[in-house]
This record gives sequence, C-alpha cells and structure tokens, in this order.
Amino acid sequence: MTKNQQNLSYLKPIKDSLGRPLKDLRISVMDRCNFRCTYCMPEEKYHSKFKFLPSKQRLPFEHILRIAKNFVSLGVDKIRITGGEPLLRVNLADLIGDLSRVDGIRDIALTTNGVLLAKYASELKAAGLNRVTVSLDSIDPNEFKTMTGGRGSLDRVLAGIEEAQVARLNNIKVNAVIKRGSNDQKILELVEHFRSTPIVLRFIEYMDVGNINHWKKSETVPSREIVKLVGAKWPLEGVEPNYEGEVASRYRFKDGKGELGFISSVTKPFCGSCSRARLSSDGKLYNCLFASTGKDVKPWLAEGLTDHEIQQRIYSIWSERADRYSELRSLNLTEVGKQKVEMYYIGG
Ligand code: SAM
Ligand code: SF4
Ligand code: SF4
Repeated sequence: MTKNQQNLSYLKPIKDSLGRPLKDLRISVMDRCNFRCTYCMPEEKYHSKFKFLPSKQRLPFEHILRIAKNFVSLGVDKIRITGGEPLLRVNLADLIGDLSRVDGIRDIALTTNGVLLAKYASELKAAGLNRVTVSLDSIDPNEFKTMTGGRGSLDRVLAGIEEAQVARLNNIKVNAVIKRGSNDQKILELVEHFRSTPIVLRFIEYMDVGNINHWKKSETVPSREIVKLVGAKWPLEGVEPNYEGEVASRYRFKDGKGELGFISSVTKPFCGSCSRARLSSDGKLYNCLFASTGKDVKPWLAEGLTDHEIQQRIYSIWSERADRYSELRSLNLTEVGKQKVEMYYIGG
C-alpha cells in the first residue's frame, strides 16, 4: 500500500498552515430558529416570508455521521451540535446516539436557546449527549423579549435548564451576549441567578459575525467592563484554564459561590488556538466563523468517495487554513465590507 492510499490517521491531529490542530467539529443541523435574536436573526430580515433551506437540502443524519467519522479519523474528539436552533431538527437524539457510538469522540455537546430543552433533555442524555450550553441573554423578562425579538419564553428557557440538571447533563453552561443599550442593565441580576449553583455563566462579547446585524464596536461590552462590574459586588479571582486553548477566561467568586467565564473574541482574540471546523446544515465545511465561502461535501457523498478520499479532501482544506479573522480585526486589518456567512447558518 502506498502512503497515498494509507489511512491518514497516522497524521492526527492534522495541523493547519499556522500549526493549529483540528480537534473540534461544530455541526449545524438546522438553519431555522424559533427566536429572532436581534444580533443574529433580526425579524426585519428573517420574517415569515424568508426562504430558509428546503428540508431536502439539509444534510441527512447518515451523511453527517459519515463526515464526522472521517473528521474523527483525522483527530477530532469533540463535537458540538448547533444551529439555528438544533432542537428543531426532528429526531435529533438519533444523531446524538449514532455519534456517541463513534470510537474517538470523547465529548458531544449541544448549544441551544433552551426553549424546547425541557421536552428533550432526558431523551438527549439517554442518547449519549454529554453536555449542554444554553444561550440566555437576560433574566429580566423585558430585556429577554428585546433580545429574542419577542419570541420564546424566559420561563420555558429556565425550565429547560432545570430539566437538563434533572437529566444529569454534565457541566451545564449558560452563555450570555451583552449588547450595549439592549441588555446591559440587568447583568448583576443574571449573575445572581446562577451564583451559588453548579451552572457556569459565561459572557460572550457581541461580534461582527455575518453582515445583517449591522454590528457596531460601540455596542460590544468588553469583558473587562463586566469583570469590573461584577467584581465590585462579588470579588472575583482568576482561575487557571481547564485545558490548553480554552476559549473562556475563568474567574471564581472569592466567597466560593461559583464561577464565571468570559469569551472575549473582540477584545482578546484567541485565533492562535482555534481548532474548530464547522459543517453547515446544507453540508458546507468552513474553517472560520467569519469565512465567506465553504466547501460543499454533498458532491463527495454523491460521487461515492471512499473514506480515504474524504479524509484527503478534509486534510487538504485544513492544511491550507490560514483564517484568523478576529486577530486581524484587532489589528484593523480586516477587509471593509467583507461578505461573511451568517451565524444562524454556520452555527455558533
Ligand atoms: N440557537 C442556539 C443558541 O442560541 O444557543 C444555537 C445557535 S446560536 C447561533 C449559538 C450562539 O451564538 C448563541 O450563544 C448566540 O448567543 C451566539 N451568537 C449569535 N450571534 C452572535 C453575535 N453576533 N455575537 C456573539 N455571539 C453570537
Ligand atoms: Fe436563534 Fe440562537 Fe440565533 Fe438566537 S442566537 S436567533 S436563538 S440561532
Ligand atoms: Fe477561530 Fe476564526 Fe474565531 Fe479566529 S476568528 S477564533 S480563526 S473562528
């Protein structure tokens, strides 16, 4: 057997052109969403007549599984299921079940807006889901309404988080995006809600993903501002990362009442350790959240490529990767007016 025909797993984890290993795969299983968060899918654009992907263009589970297995052969050991809203994908637990049986995957996580989580938490846990992250931008009903475009229900999201605990999903996290002028008035109340619980609240800086949210840097609340605000009420101290390349900076309350995380993609980019590839719900592979184009895997499957050939394609995409958009942004080197994929489409 020539080296060219060999399984490429001897190279794993494969490295990109900047030496970053391929360790994580984020799979968007659904472009639709039942919320209309102003920073992600503003109602003006995603109204009732908006044409989302027809269901037949969605990558079927068997194809997602095949692509995921080939990523695992090249070094991926963490999978995150996301969207749009992943819990809108029918029979999602079947996909989780199939993924959980793949040798080499050590962690399967889900990011959700939580509104359907109470219904599915135990089924997903039984299928093999390890962790869940719930996005919740405010504990105040009015701010919640503003952020979600008047959709969903705060009570149902909170019930979803509770049910995830009952189902014993590990390591539950809550992610909050704070947008200046929209939901920056009740930050301490949100912190207080999750303080003294095992749930880790993480603040994500509002980013310029896609083109439709008309991002203004002035609307991003830098993490350091929130650290200062929270620290003045409940003193905080920094904590060592859980593992190398962890994107969130960790802080704990000095009184022992839990932990917070800060994901500072705007003020402290972490491209240098970014090990994530993304698969959109219609089967395109992206190397970066801020990419303009992706590589379609559907023809690979339609043409009957072998696993070895699929791995070669993935290898060639990853080894050419040089994306580091957030670092370039912080150096004012990003192209003005660059067309970027939208986050609801590529997945968070
Ligand atoms: N619908 C699910 C949810 O909201 O958790 C999963 C998909 S959503 C695109 C994933 C994450 O992306 C959410 O935590 C959301 O807050 C975050 N997000 C979306 N647009 C963002 C932006 N412009 N800046 C920062 N985070 C954003
Ligand atoms: Fe939907 Fe999540 Fe985007 Fe909000 S952030 S609109 S819940 S995909
Ligand atoms: Fe990774 Fe791109 Fe984000 Fe940098 S900007 S951390 S390369 S997804």
